[in-house]
Amino acid sequence: MIMQQVAVSACLLGQKCRYDASDNTNEALLNALEGLEVIPFCPEDHAFGTPRPTMDLIETKEGHIAISNENGKDLSLPVEEYAIHFFNTYPAIDLFIGKDRSPSCGVCSAKLYDEHKNLISTKEAGLMAKEAIKRGISCVDAEVYIA
Ligand code: SF4
Repeated sequence: MIMQQVAVSACLLGQKCRYDASDNTNEALLNALEGLEVIPFCPEDHAFGTPRPTMDLIETKEGHIAISNENGKDLSLPVEEYAIHFFNTYPAIDLFIGKDRSPSCGVCSAKLYDEHKNLISTKEAGLMAKEAIKRGISCVDAEVYIA
C-alpha cells in the first residue's frame, strides 16, 4: 500500500517555530494524520530563525510580497526559495495542510493589505501555499481539514 505523503506546517505538529517561539499544536489534526506520512515544513524559521518579527502580505503591481513589520523590508524571496526547494525535494507530496491565516502557510485564509496597510482580503494564499497551488498539489487550511 502506498502511504499518502502530507506536508504540514510544523507549528501545527508542536514545533515551537512561530514568530514568538510558541507552537500551534492541534490535537485534532494530529489524530487525523495518524497513518499518513507527514513531512513538516516551516519556511519562516528556516529563513529568519525563531523568534523573529512578524510579516504581512502586501499587494503590489508585481504581485503579493511579504513585508517585515519591523523594518518594512521585502522578505518574500527566502520564503519562496524555501518553498521551491521543499517541493523539489519531496515531489510525491499528495496534500499540503497549511496553518490558517499565516502569510506563508495559509491556503485560503491569509490577510492581504494594500501598500498603505489597509486590509483588502482575508482569503489569500500565503507565499509557500501559493507555490504548492502552482504545482497542482491539493491544498487546505488546517482548520478546514479538521472541520
Ligand atoms: S505558520 Fe508556517 S511559517 Fe508560521 S510558524 Fe507555522 S509553519 Fe512556520
